[in-house]
Amino acid sequence: MDFKLSKEEQELWERAKQFTYEHITPRALELEKRDEFPKEVVQKAYEAGLMNLHIPKEAGGPGLSLLAETLVSEATGYGCAGMATSIMCNNLAFAPLVIGATIEQLQTYVQPLITGKEAKFGAFCLTERGAGSDPADMTTRAVRDGDEYVITGAKCFATNAPVASLFTVFASTQPELRHKGLSVFMVPKTKGVKIGHIERKMGQKNSVQSEVFFEDVRVPKDCLVGKEGDGFKIAMMTLDKTRAGIAAIATGVAQRAVDEAARFANIRHQFGKPIGKFQGISFMLADMGTRASAARLLTRYAAWLADHGMPVSKDSAFAKAFASDAAMQNATDAVQIMGGYGYLEEYPVEKLMRDAKLTQIYEGTNQIQRLVAGRAILKESVNLDTGFHVKYEGRDPPLI
Ligand SMILES: Cc1cc2nc3c(=O)[nH]c(=O)nc-3n(C[C@H](O)[C@H](O)[C@H](O)COP(=O)(O)OP(=O)(O)OC[C@H]3O[C@@H](n4cnc5c(N)ncnc54)[C@H](O)[C@@H]3O)c2cc1C
Repeated sequence: MDFKLSKEEQELWERAKQFTYEHITPRALELEKRDEFPKEVVQKAYEAGLMNLHIPKEAGGPGLSLLAETLVSEATGYGCAGMATSIMCNNLAFAPLVIGATIEQLQTYVQPLITGKEAKFGAFCLTERGAGSDPADMTTRAVRDGDEYVITGAKCFATNAPVASLFTVFASTQPELRHKGLSVFMVPKTKGVKIGHIERKMGQKNSVQSEVFFEDVRVPKDCLVGKEGDGFKIAMMTLDKTRAGIAAIATGVAQRAVDEAARFANIRHQFGKPIGKFQGISFMLADMGTRASAARLLTRYAAWLADHGMPVSKDSAFAKAFASDAAMQNATDAVQIMGGYGYLEEYPVEKLMRDAKLTQIYEGTNQIQRLVAGRAILKESVNLDTGFHVKYEGRDPPLI
């Protein structure tokens, strides 16, 4: 087993870390006060080649791996999870298209957005007010009318929607089939696409989310991705992969919490010595470091599975749930280690705590990750032979 990154991956990892050090970390606190899209930093990230990594070469992208994406997500997440979300959101928005669209469709709709001078954005529009964890409840409809589809409905929480040029929209083409009747469309910003209320949030303020209204929006029939009815399958395949990206942002937060808390524990003296010399603090740091490392390993393993075409659903759910719980726990512990200073806005760890919380919620809450993982474990166990042969049928399990 080789834990080393390839030369190309190592170069990307170093580039993303240097970018974070120069452009993200020093500005994260100041910019989050503005509570708006950090356009200038994202443009620089685009110019530094840190965006749109998964778009295939035939459609103008670098065609890099999911592992490469997780490296950039972790590095940028270390500096600011909100900015990482802004920078990496195209991965989510375009992933359904990379999975389900033809190269010609990608060349027409995505290539112009990723090859110009200015960074352009996509928005992933799945969630609705009445349909969050269960997309089958969505009410957005797409109806075929000659050579066009007419899309009507309202989405919410769509990251980067206020700055987006292309919307990846999940809509029902056969409502009576529920999730099997969902389809996915590429919708350029056109007549009838309206941006609604921009959400104000607890954390990740360096990213923007809004409602999006589709009012009888007409798109050519070639905006359908895959076939009618493929939407749910494409959404699940997308999230199986992109969850590793959220796990990576969370890993960045978890590691930053360790580093800031350790730095403080070395220099803060109480009772005549650095607080890091107290076992109560150093054991906390040890547990925090363990969580960050375990989160990284689970995340990179999930990405590696996806890159090698292996089933990834269970492992990306493990990674997302574990890494985001690790981020939340580590951020909380970092605040504790820094005492009163941890609670102040001028130090970075209270922001880590607010930012970490979102990683447990978006792209499927951690309850949903556990649901996915639990189902997979139960399914695998049906044919599992542990070597301990006891017949369970027809009677209570014996005490073993
Ligand atoms: C800042 C932010 C950015 C986002 N970005 C996007 C985006 O770009 N695109 C997009 O489409 N969506 C986006 N979302 C939406 C996000 O993915 C949803 O909020 C999330 O999936 C949960 O849906 P919900 O909020 O409707 O909660 P609900 O589904 O209503 O869940 C409420 C609670 O019930 C629990 N729950 C639900 N079902 C079960 C179950 N079966 N078992 C156990 N517990 C359950 C949930 O875990 C949660 O705790 C974003 C959200 C936020 C806050």
